[in-house]
Amino acid sequence: MATATLQKSHAHKPTEVKNQQLFIGGKWRDSASGKTFATLNPATGETICRVAEGDKADVDLAVAAARKAFEEGPWPKMNASERGRLLNKLADLIESHKEELAALESLDNGKPLRDSLAADLPLVVKCYRYYAGWADKIHGKTIPVEGPFFCYTRHEPIGVVGQIIPWNFPLLMQAWKWGPALATGCTIVLKPAEQTPLTALRVAQLAQEAGFPDGVINVVPGYGPTAGAAISEHMDVDKVAFTGEGSTGQIIMTAAAKSNLKRVSLELGGKSPNIVFADADLDAAVEGAYFGLFFNQGQCCCAGSRLFVEEKVHDRFVEKVLQKAKAQKVGDPFDPETTQGPQVSQEQCDRIMGYIDAGKQEGAKLLTGGRRLGERGYFIEPTVFGEVKDDMKIAREEIFGPVMNILKFKDVDEVVRRGNRTFYGLAAAVWTRDITKAHRLANGLRAGTVWINCYDVFDSAAPFGGFKMSGFGRELGEYALELYSEVKTVYVNLGE
Ligand code: NAP
Ligand code: MG
Repeated sequence: MATATLQKSHAHKPTEVKNQQLFIGGKWRDSASGKTFATLNPATGETICRVAEGDKADVDLAVAAARKAFEEGPWPKMNASERGRLLNKLADLIESHKEELAALESLDNGKPLRDSLAADLPLVVKCYRYYAGWADKIHGKTIPVEGPFFCYTRHEPIGVVGQIIPWNFPLLMQAWKWGPALATGCTIVLKPAEQTPLTALRVAQLAQEAGFPDGVINVVPGYGPTAGAAISEHMDVDKVAFTGEGSTGQIIMTAAAKSNLKRVSLELGGKSPNIVFADADLDAAVEGAYFGLFFNQGQCCCAGSRLFVEEKVHDRFVEKVLQKAKAQKVGDPFDPETTQGPQVSQEQCDRIMGYIDAGKQEGAKLLTGGRRLGERGYFIEPTVFGEVKDDMKIAREEIFGPVMNILKFKDVDEVVRRGNRTFYGLAAAVWTRDITKAHRLANGLRAGTVWINCYDVFDSAAPFGGFKMSGFGRELGEYALELYSEVKTVYVNLGE
C-alpha cells in the first residue's frame, strides 16, 4: 500500500513576514474594527503573521475610494496607452521580484516552491503583459443604421468592480482579474481568500510603486460571509467577479440580484472527464493524467478528476499511474525535491479525508494512499481509487485534493454520455491517436475547454471558463474584456 513518506525540511524559507494592513485609497491602514486574523503556514500549521480583517465598514471605504478614482482624478483622464504602460511596469516589477513572490506564495499556500517559480510566476507576468497590450486596442464599431444618423459604439469600463478570489492560485487569480479590469479602465476592490492574503497585498504594493493612481486598486482581506458579502451586496459596486465554490457563487449571484443587479461572472470548478483511449500514446496519457490531477496538490478547478480509461488498456494504465504515485515526493514546499506540498488548510484536509472515506465506503478500490502524512501540517498521501462507478460520491463531487478516480469504459458514445453526466462543465481531455475520434469528442463534450493529448495548457490569449454549473463568462483572452466593459451606442443626427 502506501509508500509515500514526508520529505525532510532543508531549504530556506522567507524569514520574517510582518503583520499586514488593508490597502485602501493608496493608504495602508488597520481595519475599522481593529480586528486581525492569522494566516497560517500549511506545512506546519503555524502562524505566519496577522492580517487586518476587513469587514463592511472597510469595504465601504474601499468602494468609495474606487468610485472616486473611477470618476475623478488621473485614472479616467489617462490615455489608454498609459494604462498599458502601467500594466507593463507592474509586470516588470513582479518579474524582478519573482523569487520573493514565489516564496511568499509557497509559504502561504503550501505549493512547492519549484511550481510557484516554474508555473505561477511566469503565467502571472505573461497575463499582465498580455492585458497591457490590450489597453489601447479596445474600441467599438461604426454601424450603418437607417436614416441620417451616424451611429457608433463605445466600449466603456464597467466601473467599480469587486473581485473575490480563492486560495489555490492566489497570484494567478489576481492577475486574471486585475489584467482585464485595469486594461479596460475599471477600478478594483479585491478580497483575497482568508487562507492566502499575502501575495495579493505584496502585489498591491508593487502596483503602487508602478504608479497606479490612489484608489484604482484596493485590497481588503477578510472573511467571505463578512467582507465578501459586503462586496457582493454593495449598491455602488458595478460588477463582481468570483472564482470558488458553486454554492458560494450562488450566494454571490443572489446578493447581486437583490442589491443593484451588478454584473456577475463566475468560475466555479468542475468534475472534469479525462478520457484515455486504447490507441493513445499510453506513457504520454499517464503523464498527462497524473499531472492533470495531482498538480497543485489536486487543488485545481479543472482537475481531471474523472479519469475514464478504455477497458483494453486499463490494467496497464493503472500499473503505470501507481508507479508515479509511489514516486511522488510529499513534503516541505521549500525542499527542491518536493513534488507535492500540504493541502491549504485543516478544513480542506478534513474535507478530502471525508471523500476518501466515502470512496472506501461506497466500494471503490483503494489502490494506493488514503492516509494523512505526518503530525504537523496538512499533508495527504497521493491517493488512487480504482473500480470507481459514476454514481459514487467521489465521481460526482469536486474533491479538490490529491485523489484520483479511475473509471472504465468501452466505446466512444458511452464515454461521451458518461463524461457529460455531471452538472459541471469546466474542462475535459481526450487521449487518442485517432484524429476523427479526438474531434468527435471535442465537439461532444460539454465543457469550456477541451484538451487533446495534453492537459492544463493555459495561455493568456485563450479564454477559460465553464459550461453549466461551472459558471459563466470567460476569463483570459479578448473575451475577458467583455466582462469589464459596457457597450454604449451613440446616434448623431446628420440631417438638416
Ligand atoms: P469558497 O468559499 O468559494 O471561497 C472562495 C472565495 O469566496 C474566498 O475568498 C471566500 O472567502 C469567498 N466567500 C466565501 N463565502 C462568501 C460569501 N458568502 N460571499 C462572498 N464571498 C464569499 O471556497 P472555499 O471554502 O475556500 O473552498 C471550498 C471548496 O470550493 C473547495 O473544496 C473546492 O471544491 C472549491 N474551490 C474551487 C475553486 C475554483 O478554482 N473553482 C477554488 C477554491 C475552492 P473566505 O476567504 O472567507 O473563504
Ligand atoms: Mg468557503
